[in-house]
Order: sequence, then structure tokens, then C-alpha cells
Amino acid sequence: MTDLVYSRPNQCGACGAPLHPWLSGVRDRVYGVGGDWDLFRCGNAACAAAYLDARLTGQQLASFYATYSTHSDPVLAVSGAKRGFRRAIEWFLHRSLGYRRPDASTATSILARFFRVIPLLRHMASLRVFWLPYVAKGKLVEIGFGNAQTLLQMHDLGWDVEGIEFDTVCVDKARAFGLRVGEGDFLAQNYGDCSLDAVVGSHVIEHVPDPGELIAAIHDKLAPGGRMVLITPNGKSLGCRLMGAYWRGLEAPRHLTIQTPGSLIRHAERAGFRTVKLFGTPLGGGILQQSVQIRQGKPVGPTGRIAQLFWAIIASAIHLVRPKASDEIVLFCEK
Ligand SMILES: [Zn+2]
Repeated sequence: MTDLVYSRPNQCGACGAPLHPWLSGVRDRVYGVGGDWDLFRCGNAACAAAYLDARLTGQQLASFYATYSTHSDPVLAVSGAKRGFRRAIEWFLHRSLGYRRPDASTATSILARFFRVIPLLRHMASLRVFWLPYVAKGKLVEIGFGNAQTLLQMHDLGWDVEGIEFDTVCVDKARAFGLRVGEGDFLAQNYGDCSLDAVVGSHVIEHVPDPGELIAAIHDKLAPGGRMVLITPNGKSLGCRLMGAYWRGLEAPRHLTIQTPGSLIRHAERAGFRTVKLFGTPLGGGILQQSVQIRQGKPVGPTGRIAQLFWAIIASAIHLVRPKASDEIVLFCEK
């Protein structure tokens, strides 16, 4: 078959260790794609990346996304308490990462001081800018920008933004906002070598047939000192260990690989990144909550605020005790 785009490797793409059968009969409980899917896992305990056991053509892969949706509209203006919270985030970003100073407001400025000591708030605020320090007119590319919320926010904060997305609906919507976006694959875009200041992707790397190839390509396109930030489910999380085939982060068959702290660090070092940081976030409450929904055979998705708060507290507790057992991890690198 000539147009194969994904084929389960014989050895781990991150560390080269042999792969062993891990989970079988995993079903798509989120978007209802049929089939029982198996996963293999790297035998090197320090890496332990996992791979979907499949051989897929581009057409098959595209069919897995027929009912997949990131088509919600971005939230641009907020009012009342949400506006105050957003202002507090801006104060935090001003003080910690050098973003512009918000309009004076004593109350939100004081609220922002709590962000430093409460990890959930600190990470919620930092996620807004992908933990990136401000670079005036820095050129930033977001891979898989979805509803373009982040691109619009980063543009407002002073970045020169560009996006790439497979989903035509998302591309059309972003263009209607006046954003410069491309359709398809990062590797097929014409960015100049060493031309970008930042490349970011949230929950993208696990959908990519060859994560090592993508990370190497990002490294090539970054300017010296440029940064890459990738967020992904953690295949070595406590949630994954406890929930097994029900774990939300598996999302077979759309997640082709499941990364871990060890596998991401190996990919980044092999690509040549000078500084490689890996940290867990306390933001994986949704992954835990939805894993329980999958296990109970319930519809998968966000529920009431109390339940969301409960799972946010559980995710925060895991993050506090063992950050790298969090259900969501961040790879932050500098070229
Ligand atoms: Zn490995």
C-alpha cells in the first residue's frame, strides 16, 4: 500500500527499545469510530511511549475525524466576575512573563498575587500564553489552532501569529477573523529556516504519525533562542495507570502515539534543543473526569461546575504530590 501514513513501528520512535503488547480491545467512546484497537508499549521503563497497533492510510485517518469537533466559537469579550478574573490573569502575566501592564485595578492586581501560590491558578494563567515569556512582535505559529482562541489572544498580546490546522471549517473561521493561517501539515508549510520565535501545540503531538519528525522540523524552523511548547496527555500518569483501557488520554484511534515525560525529552534532545524542560500541570481534571465517564459507560463530556471543581482538585492533588504523574504534561524547549 503506497499511501500508508501511519504504521505501528517495530521499535520505539523515541528511544529505540522493542515494543510489547499493552492494551487490547480499546474502543472510541468519545466520537464513536468503530473497531477494537490495540496498543503496544515501549519496553524501556524510563520511556514507555505507546503506539496504536494499526496501519492507516490518509483516507482512513481522515475518516476518524468525521464527527470530531473543535468548532465552538472563541470567547472574545467577557463581563462581570469573568472580566475581573481575566484582568487578574493579565496582571500575573505582566509580572511573571513580561506581558504589558493591564489598566490599573487594585483588586485584580491583589487577586493576581494568589496565582503565584496556587498551582491551578498559576498554570491556568500561564497556559493562556503557553508559558511563553513575551517577545515583542515575536513570530509565533500554533499547530492545530482549533477555534483560534489562542491565536486571537496572542495577537492581542503583541505576538505576530500564524496558525496551521487540518480542519477546513476552522481554517475558514480563522480567516474570517483576519488571521493568517494555513491548512494541512506543519512540514508542508513554507516557513523559512530559523525564522520563528515560538511554535506551540496543545493536544496535537499525539495525533501525529511521526512525533520525532515533527519535533525535528520545528527545531529547524525556530530561530536561535526560539521556543517550542507542546502539551499532551501523559502515558505515565496516575490516571492512565488506574484507568487502563478506559483512560481518556488514549482516544483510539485518533491518538497514534501516547507520549510520556521520558519519550518527549528524548525526542527534544535528539532534535538538538539546548534547553529541555518537562513538567506536569494540574489541568488534567477533565481527562480524569471523562475517564470515569468512559468506565461507567456514560456520555463523555464536561458536566456541572461542582463536578469539574471536584476533578480539578483531584488533578491538583496528584500534581502536588507527584507532578510528573499528572494527566497532562508540557514539553518546553529552547533552541
Ligand atoms: Zn521508548
